[in-house]
Amino acid sequence: MDIAELRDRILEKDRRALARAITLVESSRPDHRKHASQLLEALRGAGKQALRIGLSGTPGVGKSTFIENFGLMLTGKGNKVAVLAVDPSSVRSGGSILGDKTRMEHLSRDNNAFIRPSPSQTHLGGVARRTREAVALCEAFGFDIVLIETVGVGQSEIVVAQMSDLFLLLLAPAGGDELQGVKRGIMEMADIILVNKADGDLERTAIRTCADYAGALHLLRKRPQDPDGFPKAMTVSALEAQGLETAWEEIKTLTQWRRDAGHWNAHRQDQAEYWFQQEVRHGLLSRLESGDAKDAMTQIGAQVSSGDLTPSVAAEKVLSLLRKCKI
Ligand code: GDP
Repeated sequence: MDIAELRDRILEKDRRALARAITLVESSRPDHRKHASQLLEALRGAGKQALRIGLSGTPGVGKSTFIENFGLMLTGKGNKVAVLAVDPSSVRSGGSILGDKTRMEHLSRDNNAFIRPSPSQTHLGGVARRTREAVALCEAFGFDIVLIETVGVGQSEIVVAQMSDLFLLLLAPAGGDELQGVKRGIMEMADIILVNKADGDLERTAIRTCADYAGALHLLRKRPQDPDGFPKAMTVSALEAQGLETAWEEIKTLTQWRRDAGHWNAHRQDQAEYWFQQEVRHGLLSRLESGDAKDAMTQIGAQVSSGDLTPSVAAEKVLSLLRKCKI
């Protein structure tokens, strides 16, 4: 594979080259990994900083509907929009539920949009790295906005929040009970809570739910990276495309404030540091799971289960082999 050519074609905004490059970063084959790193390095600093928006919500809350109409609104304003997904369900199903392009029928046919189904991987850490690298490719390509979607099941929100400038949480209208069900940690990550389906019979419930969440957000500690009034809750109807303009105005307000206050860059720097640490951890773990280290783990592990070694002595033994680069 000619990496220089692939880079040039991405810089010329060749969408097929972008798709191919994403396939490359998604591959775990060692030679592909090497090419992927070379490509990312060759593209470093190219393009521009896109606005990366993370979006999470449970299945059925309306994420695809939201992305379809929000995405169309954004492209209608002249933006180029990429949609990527982090799909934790692939861990269980081995397939991707976010992979269905027909979910965003109109947006997927829009020349100013690019939708990429989530990679199916068996390891959330692996998916995270691929998506993060796909975001970098989309930025180099020149997208204005990158939407990163995930199903709300806990761990994957953290992953998405760590690669987004701004995090949206989509919630359904519900009774007070459900409010308790949203984990505090996830509430704390959200910059804007969107209570969806505020239309028809559900509108009143949505308004009440929104007020409940607004109250809950108010109780959270004010964050230094936020202007007054944020984080905030608001109602939308993804289906009827209601409230999407307002949501976009709020996003722009928050973004501008963070840029002016210097939080934007600081946040990206913190994220880079976080991913560096994750990569090192991931690399160490993969080392343990292959080659001589794997054999040593199996053999020494057997000595632990037979009672010949205590877990801590055995662990020290493996670590010392690693330190001496013997495995
Ligand atoms: P996802 O699983 O989060 O991607 O949810 P979908 O976008 O597939 O939506 C699930 C269901 O909720 C579909 O039947 C949608 O038509 C419906 N839905 C999504 N957004 C709205 C909305 O704003 N109002 C109403 N009434 N239904 C909606």
